[in-house]
Amino acid sequence: MARVVLLGPPGSGKGTQAEAIARRLGVPHLSTGAILRAAAAAGTPLGREAERYMGAGRLVPDELVLGLIEERLSDPDGRAGYLFDGFPRTVAQAEALEHIAPVDRVLSFEIPFEELLQRLTGRRTCPACGSVYNTVTLPPKRAGRCDRDGAELTKRSDDEEGAARTRLEVYRKETAPLLEFYRARKRLAPIDATGAPGLVAARIDEALEALAPSSAKAYRSTPAP
Ligand code: AMP
Repeated sequence: MARVVLLGPPGSGKGTQAEAIARRLGVPHLSTGAILRAAAAAGTPLGREAERYMGAGRLVPDELVLGLIEERLSDPDGRAGYLFDGFPRTVAQAEALEHIAPVDRVLSFEIPFEELLQRLTGRRTCPACGSVYNTVTLPPKRAGRCDRDGAELTKRSDDEEGAARTRLEVYRKETAPLLEFYRARKRLAPIDATGAPGLVAARIDEALEALAPSSAKAYRSTPAP
């Protein structure tokens, strides 16, 4: 059982690393941002309500997000655990999660605040497969097109500068206190999130080795296809 949280400011690279970490741990990747964006695109009542906050870069109210998480955690695919990405984001959410499904390890993505705005406004996403690029730090091979499937890359509306600044401020006020919450519970593993994605992935590997050494070995010894 591995319940792991990716904690870090918007733009710190959580989404870029999440799929590989989830695969390695053998658990589902649960991104509340992605779930909320899908609900908004589908036009469900929850999605329409959430959209009002997301577009402005503000947090969706705790009750809404917690309802969604509880529903998702009742799915049977989480028996081996979960990788939480973008959740919890407030102390109230973290306290609620302690009651529903206490987490084992929190990977804290550490990066100087000044780098984040550039990372956010340069971010581009593939609407088809979810791959994440950055016009400055991780450009696709062909400008504006996904390397995997050639789809036209899009920019999230909340990555426009105004909303991005609000999200950073919201992180500082609402989410950063979680660092102390988990540090006090001895579950915090700091990750240096600066540099190329491959470098950050190697640092994460090391941190996860302590959590699940056997799965780490199996992962490394798997020959490339
Ligand atoms: P993300 O993709 O994680 O950057 O999330 C995008 C947006 O979804 C955030 O700016 C919030 O508006 C909303 N959101 C995602 N996760 C949460 C959460 N745990 N609590 C409140 N709002 C959230």
